[in-house]
Amino acid sequence: MAQGDGCQALLVGYPVSVNAPVRTELLQADEAGIRRAADVIRAHGLVAFPTETVYGLGANALSEPAVLRIFEAKDRPRGNPLIVHLAEAAQLATVAADVSTRARDVAARFWPGPLTLVLPRAAAVPLVTTGGLDTVAVRVPDHPVAWALIEAAGVPIAAPSANRSGRPSPTRAGHVRDDLDGRIELILDGGPTPVGVESTVLDMTGESPLLLRPGGVPLEALREALGPVRVVAGADHEAAGRSPGLRYRHYAPRAEVVLVDPGAGETAVQPWLAAGRPVALVSQRLITLERPRLTVRVMPADLVAYARDLFALLRELDTAGVEIIVVEAVPERGLGRTIMDRLRRAAAPS
Ligand code: AMP
Ligand code: MG
Repeated sequence: MAQGDGCQALLVGYPVSVNAPVRTELLQADEAGIRRAADVIRAHGLVAFPTETVYGLGANALSEPAVLRIFEAKDRPRGNPLIVHLAEAAQLATVAADVSTRARDVAARFWPGPLTLVLPRAAAVPLVTTGGLDTVAVRVPDHPVAWALIEAAGVPIAAPSANRSGRPSPTRAGHVRDDLDGRIELILDGGPTPVGVESTVLDMTGESPLLLRPGGVPLEALREALGPVRVVAGADHEAAGRSPGLRYRHYAPRAEVVLVDPGAGETAVQPWLAAGRPVALVSQRLITLERPRLTVRVMPADLVAYARDLFALLRELDTAGVEIIVVEAVPERGLGRTIMDRLRRAAAPS
């Protein structure tokens, strides 16, 4: 289907607004499922699919009406731009303009993988996709289902995480269904996602690379490969301008998240237990404390394994009716930086 006939496609295919509920299909991410998903994308519909980081909510990145539906389905603020996914780096010129040699080198080194590059936007990418910015965020995911889907659809796929805005990102198909059932056409179930946290976002448009969001590729790996990488503080005004996503509360379960120092968990849960409230204590240490209404979760010492389980844990504790989640801080190295970023945002007042 040619670009620009989106409105007609919406009339014959999919509703413009989530105000008209749609039936959400849940299919295995096998050949037939991927074929069906590609049809939905080509008809300007919405498909949730697995990547190596988290499940993405995909639409044709070059179709304004399709991309608008992503914002509606997620209740995502329009100013928070989307990441465009490609099947291979060779397609970069379709979405980014003036790609520098340096940016190409970074892409060659880290793609496919959980690194998103912010580059000058090509004219073909509508401003709705980039939240009105003249830059575009782009990556090649490291997941066979994502490649097959993008290839079969024949278009770049814009895909933020497939959760309702503000909620923890989905790492299983069931998480997507819990948040988006009745709002999207299709969920492709490809099992749990292996990395479990979103991609690292690196701005390549300035003098030196600027880390906008810690993610699946650790800062140490970037510095080792690229030399100096600047990091922006979350509260920084310039940072909020460069990375609109930083402005919004994120990753939050319904329960209140309280971050405490390592070793301080047992003491921190006491006032809530005394008040009779259901509390969870999340630590990397073995916890021997047992109390009624206390749920204990011991997380892996290995930060890669911890990151993979983090969002599923937050959702599981919500489902269990926990009201307060006390989490002990993890070391700020490797994926620990990413885990701490997500925990701080989850703990931030709304
Ligand atoms: P999500 O897709 O929900 O993982 O969020 C995408 C992240 O990428 C958000 O933090 C956005 O602010 C960031 N992002 C996307 N596009 C751009 C861009 N053009 N410039 C800076 N940050 C971006
Ligand atoms: Mg997200």
